Amino acid sequence: MRDLTLLPKAELHVHLEGAMRVETVRELAERVGAPIPSGLVDGRWGFAGFDDFISQYTAMCALLGTIEDFRRIAYEFCEDEARTGVRYAEVVFSPSNHAPRLGDDWFGPIEAVLDGLEAGRRDFGVIARLAPDLVRDAGLELAERSLEVALKFGGRGVVALSAAGSERSGIAPFGPLFRRAKDSGLRSVPHAGEWAGPRNVWETLEHYLPDRIGHGVRAVDDPALVEHLAGTGIPLEISPVSNVATGVYGSLAEHPFRVLRDAGVTVTLNSDDPPMFGAWLTDVYRSARDTWSFDDADLAEIARSGVRASFADDEIKAEILAGIEAWLTEPSTA
Ligand SMILES: [Zn+2]
Repeated sequence: MRDLTLLPKAELHVHLEGAMRVETVRELAERVGAPIPSGLVDGRWGFAGFDDFISQYTAMCALLGTIEDFRRIAYEFCEDEARTGVRYAEVVFSPSNHAPRLGDDWFGPIEAVLDGLEAGRRDFGVIARLAPDLVRDAGLELAERSLEVALKFGGRGVVALSAAGSERSGIAPFGPLFRRAKDSGLRSVPHAGEWAGPRNVWETLEHYLPDRIGHGVRAVDDPALVEHLAGTGIPLEISPVSNVATGVYGSLAEHPFRVLRDAGVTVTLNSDDPPMFGAWLTDVYRSARDTWSFDDADLAEIARSGVRASFADDEIKAEILAGIEAWLTEPSTA
């Protein structure tokens, strides 16, 4: 068994705010005299289901009070991703979670994030690109502003538009925003079928023209949809540890990652919100190995899928793929 930390990985589904270190959350709360979010007890996060997770997440975002905080969390993110063997990451960031709190400053936070990511690239060698999201629960007006942010930085660190939130909001009303993003050269990577069922995925396919789908695991409940995903090759950004932590599945053993993979769907492994779920990407790969008995060749193939499904330049892809080959051909230590 090879060391999974050393396996070069691309991460396609991770939230910048959700990747905030526990110590940083504590420090920010102390600085403004705000309570630490109630889900964070003794250095560990816990959630009473998906809605509670969303409210804890929102409380944590509210602690980001200055532009410098954004630079800091982006820089720390790169250090933590490097430590877990990630070479390239596409990172969800939520402008609408911050602008209303920061004097309607829509561009300051993302500029600071891009600065922090650039410093992180220099110091830790991790390349990170952004996918700003529309938080649909916040309504169409804030979604329009989020799209403006994505478009302004398209080609300058932003590669895609995401959509997040509770999955209860209507899908179709936000469709024109994804069309505009795609017409401007951005890719479409919405969350869908995480908590809501297959219909949520079908509608997302129809209205958002996704290049990948965030989660998408509930597609497994509809054989026609599984067949469609396998046929089109649209990759799923799957985060099994996250899905268990938020209660979508009762255990990893019940999680459909392997079923989807065996059905020919392009699946990738991701952490989503690593400190909140107690698992960085290497831990996620380790749980996959333990749960589904993957061998090193399987895990290398899953890592390759992540690289191929990314929007990285060909040169970056080739370099990481070569690193994966090297990892696999080196003698195993156990
Ligand atoms: Zn997510």
